[in-house]
Amino acid sequence: MTSYASFHARSISPDSRAAFWEEQARLIDWETPFDQVLEYDKPPFARWFVGGRTNICHNALDRHLPSRGTQNALIWVSTETGQERVYTYDELSAEVNRMAASLQSLGIVRGERVLIYMPMVPEALFAMLACTRLGAIHSVVFGGFASVNLAARIDDARPKVIVSADAGSRNGKVVPYKPLLDEGIALAQHKPSSVLLVDRGLAPMPRVAGRDVDYAPLREQHLDAFVPCEWMESSDPSYVLYTSGTTGKPKGVQRDTGGYAVALASSMQHIFCAKPGDTMFCASDIGWVVGHSYIVYAPLLAGIATVMYEGTPIRPDGGIWWRIVEKYKVTQLFTAPTAIRVLKKQDPAYLTQYDLSSLRLIFLAGEPLDEPTARWLTEGVGKPVVDNYWQTETGWPILGMARGVEVLPGKLGSPGKPVYGYDVKLVNEATGEDCGPNEKGVLAIEGPMPPGCLSTLWGDDERFVKTYWQTVPGRMLYSSFDWGVRDEDGYYFILGRTDDVINVAGHRLGSREIEESIASHPAVAEVAVIGVQDALKGQVAMAFAVLRRPEQAETADARLALEGDVMKTVDKQLGAVARPARVFFVSMLPKTRSGKLLRRAIQAICEGRETGDLITLEDPAALEQVRDALKGA
Ligand code: AMP
Repeated sequence: MTSYASFHARSISPDSRAAFWEEQARLIDWETPFDQVLEYDKPPFARWFVGGRTNICHNALDRHLPSRGTQNALIWVSTETGQERVYTYDELSAEVNRMAASLQSLGIVRGERVLIYMPMVPEALFAMLACTRLGAIHSVVFGGFASVNLAARIDDARPKVIVSADAGSRNGKVVPYKPLLDEGIALAQHKPSSVLLVDRGLAPMPRVAGRDVDYAPLREQHLDAFVPCEWMESSDPSYVLYTSGTTGKPKGVQRDTGGYAVALASSMQHIFCAKPGDTMFCASDIGWVVGHSYIVYAPLLAGIATVMYEGTPIRPDGGIWWRIVEKYKVTQLFTAPTAIRVLKKQDPAYLTQYDLSSLRLIFLAGEPLDEPTARWLTEGVGKPVVDNYWQTETGWPILGMARGVEVLPGKLGSPGKPVYGYDVKLVNEATGEDCGPNEKGVLAIEGPMPPGCLSTLWGDDERFVKTYWQTVPGRMLYSSFDWGVRDEDGYYFILGRTDDVINVAGHRLGSREIEESIASHPAVAEVAVIGVQDALKGQVAMAFAVLRRPEQAETADARLALEGDVMKTVDKQLGAVARPARVFFVSMLPKTRSGKLLRRAIQAICEGRETGDLITLEDPAALEQVRDALKGA
């Protein structure tokens, strides 16, 4: 058996890298074989499997049909509407072809963008696969986001068609999508030519004449459609997925075709240990990268079944996920630590009430996994819990345990070691030098990034280079913007972000975006938004706002009313996920003499830590105001 150390070394060494990835590339079908494994003559732009032509949808569906047509492909469970549907590979393929033909009838061809703003319904997955089938580029916008987020993404991706639905449902409450979508389109400069609508019958849905098209009748017209897969160059974009950074403008992470398919197929073998007949239940949302990779593409590329779940972990009760595991013989469960912290508060009997014998591994990602949560789950379920660390940008794990190669002991609190393909560095923020063991540094990656990682930012190569590759002094390294430390045994520990990104329940939010939304409230002059540690959600956002007319917040009642009003603004513009847990009113914010917001200092105060030496602080009274504001809270 190969040792993981040699497997990893082979995957990144310039002498063996090409041979290594050529082997991995055999996990998918190529219509035209590639003639070069890697082109890296214009760093940091890496092109994988150059000259090769393939199609992700072909690899996820068509190639399985002769051998697995009657096996389960998609298991959809909605505890919100009480529906369950199971699609075999044959049935899923038929649905994807119907959707592809429908999109084609609306003018979607190779290279065109399709924005998908959908709840967790099968049609969302059909639409994603239909796009890759047609060579169209999808941009999925998380259903919890609202109009301003939508408008920014519409203007950046310029979709010809938007696929949406009347409503989602959260905790038994209908969440209408259509009004937010209409508002998003109204705010955007770019207008889609059509909006394709799935009517779930959950909420009234006024149609815009000449633009809105109902999916049900269109699907009827294409019941027997077969749309051939468009053969794509390996480095052609498959999708764009927006994520938050330090500025208010979200970044369109662009993924390629061949590299992504290879990386995912390979990860299913080496990290997720998938075997024929397996069923993966990734309890994320298709709006996030984990959903793209491990609800939609990777399980299907591996030819196994995927569970798509609409609902919460505790409704109708805290046993629902374990019931799904039992009923569908789930083999791999994948979720975020927050969900487990929620389950931990439920009756422990749920853990022993169901037959979990099918389950082999539990994967957690998206935010730091705390030791008590990891221990509770490992001991309660009696299955290995595998933490893995990655980002929207990479599309698959950076740190983890490749148990399909070698089962190494895990360490509580650590996502593990660098995943094969990643040449991970920890560097000193100020000097750019490599850190030694147990020395805190910025987690960085030496180029070329492995297959599957972002090829650039949509329409903005310059921003891609500047944002990610030019922040480590003296070296061209990809920065993750996460702090980390490595112990003597080579295990990494993640210590939080180096930038202003907030991670609420595994959901990545930009403090700038929330600040811009709050600042659009007529009463607010300026505002600082920070992430504060939270026992359940990992972090929550808190806002400190300066009012145009301070007298507006003189009484407790007035403050409460204004706080509610500010929160409503955020709900309406960005969505409830971005709503701060609290909005405090102060008369000034801590800033440097050059006017830069000292978010770190506010965060330290909120978390009861020392602010450290703030030599650049303009007015210490601002810190006192933050402390005072928190007193009553
Ligand atoms: P996203 O791009 O939304 O997937 O968020 C990525 C960020 O989430 C990373 O940069 C980390 O800050 C955090 N993150 C993801 N997975 C982990 C993990 N296993 N442990 C610690 N932090 C994580």
